[in-house]
Amino acid sequence: MAVIEQLTSQQAIELEDKYGAHNYHPLPVVLSRGEGVYVWDVEGKKYFDFLSAYSAVNQGHCHPKIVNAMTSQAQTLSLTSRAFYNDMLGRYEKFASEYFNFDKLLPMNTGAEAVETALKICRKWAYEKKGIAENQAEIIVCENNFHGRTTTIISFSNDPVARKNFGPYTDGFIKIAYDNLEALETALKNNPNVAGFLVEPIQGEAGVYVPTEGYLAKAKALCEAYNVLFIADEVQTGIARTGRLLATCGNCSCEKKNCSGTPDVKPDVLILGKALSGGAYPVSAVLANDDIMSVIRPGNHGSTFGGNPIAAAVAMAALEVVEDESLAENAFQLGELFRSELNKYIETSKIVSLVRGRGLLNAIVINDSEDSDTAWNICMALRDNGLLAKPTHGNIIRFAPPLVMTKEQLLECVAIITKTLKEFE
Ligand code: PLP
Repeated sequence: MAVIEQLTSQQAIELEDKYGAHNYHPLPVVLSRGEGVYVWDVEGKKYFDFLSAYSAVNQGHCHPKIVNAMTSQAQTLSLTSRAFYNDMLGRYEKFASEYFNFDKLLPMNTGAEAVETALKICRKWAYEKKGIAENQAEIIVCENNFHGRTTTIISFSNDPVARKNFGPYTDGFIKIAYDNLEALETALKNNPNVAGFLVEPIQGEAGVYVPTEGYLAKAKALCEAYNVLFIADEVQTGIARTGRLLATCGNCSCEKKNCSGTPDVKPDVLILGKALSGGAYPVSAVLANDDIMSVIRPGNHGSTFGGNPIAAAVAMAALEVVEDESLAENAFQLGELFRSELNKYIETSKIVSLVRGRGLLNAIVINDSEDSDTAWNICMALRDNGLLAKPTHGNIIRFAPPLVMTKEQLLECVAIITKTLKEFE
């Protein structure tokens, strides 16, 4: 069978099943085209994408500006490695550093690589700047975290499915409860070996857990008091997803057009991925100021593809789209509308117990046990009704459409969701 031959959904699923490792459990829908907030399956059925590739497609599918940047750079120069300079990387580093207000950027490809990079920077900073004795550095992480899939990262996961039988694990991590300042202070107190605190501003994979108002700012203040780096993993929450340019931004009005504010919390180390690429090409990054980033010297860290010219062109275009189209503002407005409409539904619902989230990163909790298949069945019915979403953990369904959605489209989606939920009441 020629690879380019048109497949039916069934054939495509069978191919993946037979020739691909079974490391995912996808919803049975086979997509072959995307544009803006829509995707189409191989049989031509149209759906609203309510996952956005786990928040990587914030700018919408196949955004022409991002696709143009990618294709024209691909036809000019695609990869040099960092053995040589290229004429795009420096431009991108300046653009993104100024955009997020940091001195420097270290380019990587995937979110997990960027998290690994941040952990390495933090450890090196601990030995060279803080003065922690060699191999003694510890990094505080949160329970129910999700930071990716490498061996070190799953070493501090508490998801048994992600962890079991992948040991031995990497040492040097202390796990505390999320959204718990007392636990953070206890972990920091009397432990001079703590180098950093790695945190998701909202725990996305865990089920869109939004911490208490002020948690991040107070956690940052504690980190400052104990001379510990505050490392924000904004791979999922960043790039306008939560109604702000970054979820660590406060509710204020800064000079940046669609980010409302002087950062509420300015991380010492910022980790970005997913939508930094506009969903077009893997791009991730770690940003920090010179006092921290200067611990990285030639040979300490790298990646053949990290900082390649296509990635640089794509990321600049992706960030420009966020500003040009006021995506943070749109995510903020639509998120308020989405939660208020769903809350109206929930008032009389037996099947949904709550909706939570910020901007267009939201989740509903299904009134059933975590190991029930109700959430999965609801996602199957949503699919049949023209909207694609996926359960995160058992009884939680995440709703994260592209941020280029209009109000009319969002209301249409709310109608699909509520109609579908009614089938399960
Ligand atoms: N960090 C967070 C907060 C994430 O949500 C994810 C992916 O979902 C990652 C890191 C890992 O990103 P990637 O899948 O690109 O390695």
